[in-house]
Amino acid sequence: MYDLIVLGGGPAGLTAGIYAARGKLKTLIIEKAMEGGQISSTSEVENYPGILETSGVELGMDMKEQAENFGAEFIYEEVSEVQLEGDVKRVVGKNGTYEASTIIIATGASPRKMLCQGEEQFAGKGVSYCATCDAAFYQDLDVYIVGGGDAAVEEALFVAKFAKKVYIIHRRDELRASKILQRKAMENEKIDFIFDSVVEEIKGDKTVKGLVIRNIKTGEVQNVNGDKPIGIFVYVGYDPNTGLFEGQVEMDRGYIITDSEMRTNIPGVFAAGDLRVKSVRQVITAAADGAIAAVNAQKYVDEKAGNLYEGFVEQNK
Ligand code: NAP
Repeated sequence: MYDLIVLGGGPAGLTAGIYAARGKLKTLIIEKAMEGGQISSTSEVENYPGILETSGVELGMDMKEQAENFGAEFIYEEVSEVQLEGDVKRVVGKNGTYEASTIIIATGASPRKMLCQGEEQFAGKGVSYCATCDAAFYQDLDVYIVGGGDAAVEEALFVAKFAKKVYIIHRRDELRASKILQRKAMENEKIDFIFDSVVEEIKGDKTVKGLVIRNIKTGEVQNVNGDKPIGIFVYVGYDPNTGLFEGQVEMDRGYIITDSEMRTNIPGVFAAGDLRVKSVRQVITAAADGAIAAVNAQKYVDEKAGNLYEGFVEQNK
């Protein structure tokens, strides 16, 4: 029986683990894939205070080590079911069932798919959602990045270090990314923009060799074909990983609703990070959520312990 189970080992979950374990809560962090979550697919992190520059993988690994140094247990496990109501919360995984007084849900979000023809077929064979992992395969080749937000532009800058040419395909004529990233991309000679356009089809044999791009204003279709492999990196946003909690935790369009203390509608259940209804989704805000959730989980455990103690005194008078 743990005091706290943290679901998810991204910046929100790991920070919750650091704070909870440091506060002497018996803490278990459960992660499905890789510590760091989404940040592990980010090539460079340069806006986390106090760290001039690091990679997402390194930041995730350091946060995990920090949580473990304070005594948090960290396991890799795929969770299939959660029972959140009542004093004892249960988490059912492939390898066992885990129990705790409190839960922090920090399962983050996953890359959204474009849902065009060929995307699924060529996933991992030319279509990628992680530039850090796959950019090096496209040394001196052409790469197409889909999306217009911070992620698309930031990763285009990274991919440009390897690729011959990088094209950013965006469905509007204006990028959503921050001005500083936009300026860096505009100034990069290797990066070009294909505005008002969407990818309609991805084609190839063993790897991607071509794509069909349609201008949604003019209807004009551009066919990219060649002998050499091309890379397609999809950065069209993220969807919250909250399916497991549906019907138990209150949500708005799949995002978990919390108050400013990270409390959900269920006593003892908190949520932190990108899966929460909020406006700014950054490593720093995920980490802040995690810290707030852990401090409040600690209060919840202490109050419960106090109540039990009072009950015990009452019964034994
Ligand atoms: P985002 O800001 O939601 O941008 C998604 C982009 O994809 C938008 O430009 C959107 O177009 C486009 N898009 C959405 N669905 C599409 C579709 N089906 N087909 C084609 N294009 C589509 O997502 P993000 O860039 O992944 O960033 C997520 C969050 O992380 C943001 O809060 C961002 O600020 C943050 N982030 C920050 C940094 C940094 O600070 N360095 C780096 C990466 C991410 P529209 O513009 O037309 O909607």
